[in-house]
Amino acid sequence: MQSRDLFADAQTLMPGGVSSPVRAIKPYPFYTARAEGSHITTVDGTTLIDCCMAYGPLLLGHAHPEIKKAIAVQLDKGWLYGTPTPYEPEFARLITGDHPGMDMVRFVSSGSEATMAAIRLARGFSGKSDIVKIEGGFHGAHDAVLVKAGSGATTMGVPDSAGVLPALVAHTRQLPYNDPEALEALLAKNTDIAALIIEPVLGNIGPVIPQDGYLKAVREITKAYDVLLIFDEVITGYRLGIGGAQVKFGVRPDLTTLGKIIGGGLPIGAFSGKREIMSLVAPQGPVYQAGTFSGNPLSLAAGIATIRWLHDHPGTYADLAEKARIIDESLPSEKKATGSFVRIGSMFKYFFRKDAPQNYTDVKECDTAAFTRFWQKMLDRGVFLPPSQFETNFLSVAHTPQDLEIIAGGYIA
Ligand SMILES: *Cc1c(COP(=O)(O)O)cnc(C)c1O
Repeated sequence: MQSRDLFADAQTLMPGGVSSPVRAIKPYPFYTARAEGSHITTVDGTTLIDCCMAYGPLLLGHAHPEIKKAIAVQLDKGWLYGTPTPYEPEFARLITGDHPGMDMVRFVSSGSEATMAAIRLARGFSGKSDIVKIEGGFHGAHDAVLVKAGSGATTMGVPDSAGVLPALVAHTRQLPYNDPEALEALLAKNTDIAALIIEPVLGNIGPVIPQDGYLKAVREITKAYDVLLIFDEVITGYRLGIGGAQVKFGVRPDLTTLGKIIGGGLPIGAFSGKREIMSLVAPQGPVYQAGTFSGNPLSLAAGIATIRWLHDHPGTYADLAEKARIIDESLPSEKKATGSFVRIGSMFKYFFRKDAPQNYTDVKECDTAAFTRFWQKMLDRGVFLPPSQFETNFLSVAHTPQDLEIIAGGYIA
């Protein structure tokens, strides 16, 4: 069956025809038959250069042979036990060793689960009720963080989704990104704040990049007011380098959430942090958290293979950043005059807004109609970009110079 027919069928059986909203491309999404390296092949027989990379996890590209081998080895031994496996301490040692902010880690099955648990843990540890998030920050699809961004800094949150109780969301406050003064003002006035949760680089409307000193200021202010700092590194973890944003920017959070890349393309999440905080997680402590699929051997095998590969290939992050630079450099001057190309490592985005956005308010000024035309033009050229002005483009180890030329050509044409 062709994509159009599959989608027509799916729409009668599944809300919006999809398993996650951003995939519902108009008039219909392409259905994928297979993928390898930097390329996706659709059921319609088209092959596309992938700049979405499943929204971040596929740092080594699709179907990387070493990850595949690790999964295959485990498949032969069964794929779910409901007991501990030797992978767990091995992977925990690897991950905590790479991040200065981590003494202990709990593996879960998604990034959403990780942030949900980290927030509960912050509340359990501090005995305080409220959390602060950054406008435009995305931390998964659970109630406490599904708060409409864009409201005033100190006002109470408004639910972003039907079915989320306003009373619950009232405990989630929002602040603009890149604004340490607003954070200081909020914390000075409120003593009920358990934690600030922040994507160190806004990856779900971006990338929107921290101004010089912003993350360090965030650390100092939260520390001064005894508020826990949660770095949501579900995207930036192993994307910006080994040790993620906390190493890149030299900031040590109290808690960190990971996901995406650490599963090597299989479902995973993790939350982690200082020993005195993590010790409160059940069964060691009173903050309950549990999951049937947590630490499942396939995800851990794929994750360990990925992280070991990264350790064995120290030039990887410089190469990845160079790829994004090549696209940037090839942009014609008129494109740079009318829009802004933003990149950090292998994350990039062309914003249809003259100046690079500094926060969510800026991002919302982008010309989304122009983006949609550009997106279609890129698809016609054979390049699959994430289908929204507000999603980051990702490059992988598998992207070739020829791929980059075709991607860059799309900005020139
Ligand atoms: C993707 C993402 C999540 C949610 O992860 P899932 O695995 O989709 O549940 C949380 N935080 C950030 C920063 C993300 O990018």
